Amino acid sequence: MTPLQTLKALVSLQEIDVRIHELEKDCQQIPSRLAEIEAILGSRNQELAGERNQLDEAEMARRLLDGDLKAEKEKIKKWDVRLSEIRGNRDYQALSREIEATRKANLGIEDEILKKMQEIEDLKTSISQKEEDLAELDGGLSVERSELEEKLRSINDKIAGEDRLRTKAKKAVEAVDGRWLRQYDTIRTRRDGVAVVAVLDEHCLGCHMGIPPQLYNIVLRGERIETCPHCHRIVYYKQSLDVLDEDFLQADNG
Ligand SMILES: [Zn+2]
Repeated sequence: MTPLQTLKALVSLQEIDVRIHELEKDCQQIPSRLAEIEAILGSRNQELAGERNQLDEAEMARRLLDGDLKAEKEKIKKWDVRLSEIRGNRDYQALSREIEATRKANLGIEDEILKKMQEIEDLKTSISQKEEDLAELDGGLSVERSELEEKLRSINDKIAGEDRLRTKAKKAVEAVDGRWLRQYDTIRTRRDGVAVVAVLDEHCLGCHMGIPPQLYNIVLRGERIETCPHCHRIVYYKQSLDVLDEDFLQADNG
């Protein structure tokens, strides 16, 4: 491979890397949004489950109160019968007071039952509203979720395709000189993902600094692979690469 072919292979490798980087950026937010959706639905479901528990408890409490009230009323009935049979004035008065106190206590239980009924009513209203809201939210988020999953799948497919191209491009560079591949990776890490840049009008298009004429001429002729003296990126002259046949990039070098 000639230096120009190596440069072309590096440029092609860089194009692939830039595309992969863009694709990765495009799907970066997706996993966290998916987790967010799960969390939103999870907390809403939990809230709803909490209210359903409260409803169960309130209904249970109401049944207990009903039972208590019934038992107390039975007691009064029996006492009323006994009262009619009592002869002694003292006993009569004592039992009358007891009956009266129990009747008063029953009024309290009835009050509590009414409060429980209201609580049950309120909980039922709140639960059905929450169920409705959740169904709507779930519908919207489910659509969003499947769209995101689809997007993630499609981007991952594209990345897999780019990765296959990248392997080929790497082989093309390695075929001539693995050293440039390592150099490319090093510069890329240091220079924000851009390791190979074009030159124009005696300037490096990476850092926009001037390139000494002698070096510039070497780059124009493509005699050797050179780097910019300022930003140390690998430099090339675009027109000299444009005329190269690209077939060698596609060749299976492995
Ligand atoms: Zn430069």
